[in-house]
Amino acid sequence: MIFGIDLDGVVYKWSETAKFMLEDEFGIEVPDQTCWGTWDRELSKEHWEWLWTDGIKQGLFRHGHIYKGSIEAMNELAKMGDIMIITNRPKASHPDTLDWLAFHKVPASRVIMLGPGANKADVLPHCDMYVDDKVTNCNQLADDTDGQILLWERPWSFATDEKLSPSVSVVHNWGQVLNHAAWLTSDMTEYDVGGPLRVICVGNAAGCTHGIFDVNRDKNE
Ligand SMILES: [Mg+2]
Repeated sequence: MIFGIDLDGVVYKWSETAKFMLEDEFGIEVPDQTCWGTWDRELSKEHWEWLWTDGIKQGLFRHGHIYKGSIEAMNELAKMGDIMIITNRPKASHPDTLDWLAFHKVPASRVIMLGPGANKADVLPHCDMYVDDKVTNCNQLADDTDGQILLWERPWSFATDEKLSPSVSVVHNWGQVLNHAAWLTSDMTEYDVGGPLRVICVGNAAGCTHGIFDVNRDKNE
């Protein structure tokens, strides 16, 4: 069982880090990202280029915060299979990326760093489950792999007029991710998802197709 995990927007608070650095450096107010690609248009060319040059040198991929619960969840995933980090990051960020993963003791078996815009489905072997915050990536993975695709929905996940493939499941916390993983591995360990204990099952080898599944009751309900 291989779990393909994105970093920015799933594990690493990239947007918050970029916003903080730009505001600190230039004394500007950076708008929140409400759509994928908005910063490309809303930020000035000078500020955007600074982010990807001096911003990287000053720690854009090194000093940001981690989303709460990420390490604990990945440790649980690592018990069920292997974690493959798959991230689109520029070459200048690669040393900081590796240092950051090591510092936080991320239990990854493999780390794949692709150039911006690369198709994550080109990474082999394909994973059994993917978690990504970008709809474009999720749709490509849904088209080109047999994995279970999870969109971790953030305010910036969708590009303008973009639609999510119906085979992609949407998650908002690590409990939901772990429940999908548990279902795929047929490990019905109970995870706290912040409400009534339920597993959302969407397509799996055991035959369940769609629906909400209460782990405290019979599987066929
Ligand atoms: Mg991402």
